[in-house]
Amino acid sequence: MSSESSSSLPIEGTVVLKNNRDRRLRNFYPWVQKNEIAHVEGSVSAGGLVEVLSAEREFVGIGTYNRAARFRVRMLTLHREPIDANFFADRLRRALAARGPKAKDEAFRWVFSECDGLSGLIVDVYAGHAVVQVRSAGMEKMRSLWQPALIEIGRLASLTERSDMAGRAEEGLEPISRTLHGSPLEEVIFRENELVMAMQPMGGLKTGYYLDQVQARALLQSRVKEGDEVLDCFTYHGGFALHAAKGGAKVAGLDILPEALQVARMNAQRNGLTADWIEANAFEFLPNGAEGKRYDWIILDPPAIAKQAPNRDSLKWAIWKLVHGAIPCLKPGGRLVVCNCSFQLDLKETMEICRLAGSDQRTQMFLEDITIQSPDHPALLQFPESLYLKSLWLRTAAEPGPVSPR
Ligand code: SAH
Repeated sequence: MSSESSSSLPIEGTVVLKNNRDRRLRNFYPWVQKNEIAHVEGSVSAGGLVEVLSAEREFVGIGTYNRAARFRVRMLTLHREPIDANFFADRLRRALAARGPKAKDEAFRWVFSECDGLSGLIVDVYAGHAVVQVRSAGMEKMRSLWQPALIEIGRLASLTERSDMAGRAEEGLEPISRTLHGSPLEEVIFRENELVMAMQPMGGLKTGYYLDQVQARALLQSRVKEGDEVLDCFTYHGGFALHAAKGGAKVAGLDILPEALQVARMNAQRNGLTADWIEANAFEFLPNGAEGKRYDWIILDPPAIAKQAPNRDSLKWAIWKLVHGAIPCLKPGGRLVVCNCSFQLDLKETMEICRLAGSDQRTQMFLEDITIQSPDHPALLQFPESLYLKSLWLRTAAEPGPVSPR
């Protein structure tokens, strides 16, 4: 490795916590909020390393500090250890080992931020080509320590950066998209379950593809019956729709973005599958009756909508509206998969909204399964925010109930 591997970053200051605020951190919670800090000693640059001390000035750990961010400190370690290239190489290797052996053509999330001890760093790998998101000033500052290790340990053919999400602004960082290693790529072809899919490192949403639903898509493929009619709303590159088609279903994929549907079309061709692609707004298409068609399955996988607490009501309303709109578009006994990828609305609340929408449509709602993000996005129980994706697999009543006067 480069000569940088031996030089560690200096500790720039000390963060002293208020009374008892060290407990959660010692129990592996990774963030410190502004109101948990008694005071900061030293002039710490944005993303600089700090030692975190309890109110009694006992060592708690080392993290990065950013006074511009909502989460002032992001913890890196609970041990006194140098933060150098070896530190990152070790974390990256451990994260890779936890994902298990991967075939060359597979896609997986290699680094899931806090859940791999690398707060602010996301790395997805698609058939040997990686896409990285840098979400914190700390990771930005430590780039020279992790970036070479990433390329070397991952034996990456290319590394693209897609740090263009809204969260960067909160950390005082500019959005940035670029090729960091290898030649710029328009498209990467990778295998997902039994399908061959394409993603666009620069053109797609987020890191180009949604790997958190890989397991759920395989589950859908295994559950549909030959000839089932499936509508995949929010289809993006056709993930759920094409898995259902592979399982023998007749499918339609709907999205508001024509560019996403263009990739979905190519993905269908690539796999020798047929599908209808509908460019529409799901929030209008469903309540308007889905052009009179009735489905055995409707998949609802909307964007997060509520990244933060003040948007919770909008998200509740959105899920209610989608489920309420989707129920009449199902055949009797039809199934709904309702995905909620926002931590702000938990599983219980999501079930409650589905129950209400069912009651409002005079339909019983049976819960057949609950799925979460794929295991390469491991949720850390001591960090509840990391369990963000919950999907309810619902079956509606074979016979709708009487119309209520409501
Ligand atoms: N189900 C996808 C991921 C969905 S991401 C998968 O398995 O990969 C969310 C998608 O919703 C994006 O493709 C976005 O273009 C689309 N979208 C956002 N708002 C929409 C709307 N109102 N109607 C339909 N699609 C929408």
